[in-house]
Amino acid sequence: MSKLLPAIVLFLFSVVIILPVALVRGCRPTIPQQPPPTVDRTPIESPAGEIMINVFNHHKQQIETMSLEEYLVGVVAAEMPASFQLEALKAQAVVARTYTVSQMLSQGGRGCSNHPEADICTDHTHCQAWETEADSLKKWPAGEAAANLNKIRQAVRETAGKIAVQNGQPIDAVFHAACGGHTENSEDVWSTAMSYLRATPCPYCSDSRWSETEHTFSTAQFTKSLLPFVTATPVSTTGSSLLGTAIRTSTGRIKELNIAGETVRGRDLRTALKLPSTNLTWRHDGDNIIFTARGYGHGVGLCQYGADGQAKAGKTYDEIVRYYYAGVDISPIR
Ligand SMILES: [Zn+2]
Ligand SMILES: [Zn+2]
Repeated sequence: MSKLLPAIVLFLFSVVIILPVALVRGCRPTIPQQPPPTVDRTPIESPAGEIMINVFNHHKQQIETMSLEEYLVGVVAAEMPASFQLEALKAQAVVARTYTVSQMLSQGGRGCSNHPEADICTDHTHCQAWETEADSLKKWPAGEAAANLNKIRQAVRETAGKIAVQNGQPIDAVFHAACGGHTENSEDVWSTAMSYLRATPCPYCSDSRWSETEHTFSTAQFTKSLLPFVTATPVSTTGSSLLGTAIRTSTGRIKELNIAGETVRGRDLRTALKLPSTNLTWRHDGDNIIFTARGYGHGVGLCQYGADGQAKAGKTYDEIVRYYYAGVDISPIR
């Protein structure tokens, strides 16, 4: 009897639970599997008409001629994470288009100075980052790749032909990754004061991973890195800190810093130590100098993480662009 009981219980369980469930399952219509999204390659039409651009591909070392709007898909994909909000990607598209148009020979621009026959090159250290569609699709996880590309194509499509202008001229639409709380005046980074590149508070990038970062150097590392930027080896003769008084911009970024009696520019200090920004404070810990940096990049113009933060707060791309470039208009390419 005791051996039979488990068998009976199992039989009853099958009849009462498993069988009805199996029957119901069998009768239920199968839900069609959602097919993975495919890339929407519908041509991007621009109210400005189709404008062709000569791009010097620095990987292939050759000029490729393509439509401006298709070129911009590769720029936005290379310059901003696809995970950012659509309105931020649209702001980036306007910024990239503005820069591109200001470069284009056919639009009265200066072209790429490294390759005079091209409008622009794909070397981000010279003109503007760009990647092929194949490279974009390869860098994203397979399940997200098509949707990411479609989102970027949408951002370019929904802003097609639009640029940021002042007095009818495309502005110098500089941008950076994260400002660290306050964007910078153009003259405090470069020599020219531009009326639309004004220091502006930006509480929108505070969630960025670049908001505050720490960078530790031993005194020996610090001294060695600084050598290309000073005339003598930085040595502390008094036993006190090598780092003296800093002259800061109105937003707190280092303009100049006294290092062991020599004046070093903030941007040179940033380059020497490969720091994310010139918005720096430091402290000493034994033989180490620990820098705290706020933001990533020069801080002038549009803050990319700030653009994403503003988009999350419901701002549209034109509001975002006009926030970071004071007094500009968004208008079609003429
Ligand atoms: Zn170039
Ligand atoms: Zn910011």
